[in-house]
Amino acid sequence: MIIKCAWCGLVIDDSDTGPVSHGICPSCKKQLLSEKEESEKDEKKIPLESTAKEQSIRVRI
Ligand SMILES: [Zn+2]
Repeated sequence: MIIKCAWCGLVIDDSDTGPVSHGICPSCKKQLLSEKEESEKDEKKIPLESTAKEQSIRVRI
Protein backbone atom coordinates (compact mmCIF):
# COMPACT_ATOMS: atom_id res chain seq x y z
CA MET A 1 0.00 0.00 0.00
CA ILE A 2 1.30 3.42 -0.94
CA ILE A 3 0.66 6.04 1.71
CA LYS A 4 0.40 9.63 0.54
CA CYS A 5 -0.09 12.74 2.61
CA ALA A 6 -3.68 13.90 2.15
CA TRP A 7 -2.65 17.52 2.70
CA CYS A 8 0.46 18.10 0.55
CA GLY A 9 0.55 14.88 -1.49
CA LEU A 10 3.98 13.83 -0.22
CA VAL A 11 4.60 10.09 -0.47
CA ILE A 12 5.08 8.91 3.12
CA ASP A 13 5.47 5.19 2.40
CA ASP A 14 5.92 3.57 -1.00
CA SER A 15 7.64 0.41 0.25
CA ASP A 16 4.70 -1.67 -0.99
CA THR A 17 2.81 -1.48 -4.26
CA GLY A 18 -0.96 -1.44 -4.29
CA PRO A 19 -3.82 0.97 -3.67
CA VAL A 20 -2.96 4.49 -2.54
CA SER A 21 -3.96 5.25 1.02
CA HIS A 22 -3.91 8.66 2.60
CA GLY A 23 -2.09 9.60 5.76
CA ILE A 24 -0.36 12.67 7.05
CA CYS A 25 3.32 13.59 6.83
CA PRO A 26 5.17 14.90 9.94
CA SER A 27 5.30 18.50 8.68
CA CYS A 28 1.55 18.64 7.97
CA LYS A 29 0.84 16.96 11.32
CA LYS A 30 2.70 19.75 13.11
CA GLN A 31 0.76 22.36 11.15
CA LEU A 32 -2.54 20.62 11.84
CA LEU A 33 -1.89 20.37 15.59
CA SER A 34 -1.16 24.10 15.77
CA GLU A 35 -4.32 24.91 13.76
CA LYS A 36 -6.45 22.56 15.87
CA GLU A 37 -6.09 24.79 18.92
CA GLU A 38 -7.39 27.74 16.93
CA SER A 39 -10.28 25.87 15.30
CA GLU A 40 -11.64 24.35 18.52
CA LYS A 41 -14.08 27.24 18.77
CA ASP A 42 -15.45 26.50 15.28
CA GLU A 43 -16.16 22.87 16.20
CA LYS A 44 -19.05 24.04 18.34
CA LYS A 45 -20.94 24.90 15.14
CA ILE A 46 -21.25 21.22 14.17
CA PRO A 47 -23.45 20.09 17.14
CA LEU A 48 -25.88 22.91 16.29
CA GLU A 49 -26.64 21.22 12.95
CA SER A 50 -27.36 17.88 14.65
CA THR A 51 -29.73 19.52 17.16
CA ALA A 52 -31.59 21.13 14.26
CA LYS A 53 -32.09 17.69 12.74
CA GLU A 54 -33.33 16.31 16.06
CA GLN A 55 -35.84 19.14 16.29
CA SER A 56 -37.22 18.38 12.81
CA ILE A 57 -37.66 14.73 13.82
CA ARG A 58 -39.60 15.80 16.92
CA VAL A 59 -41.93 17.88 14.75
CA ARG A 60 -42.74 14.80 12.60
CA ILE A 61 -43.60 12.74 15.70
ZN1 LIG B 1 1.98 16.71 4.10
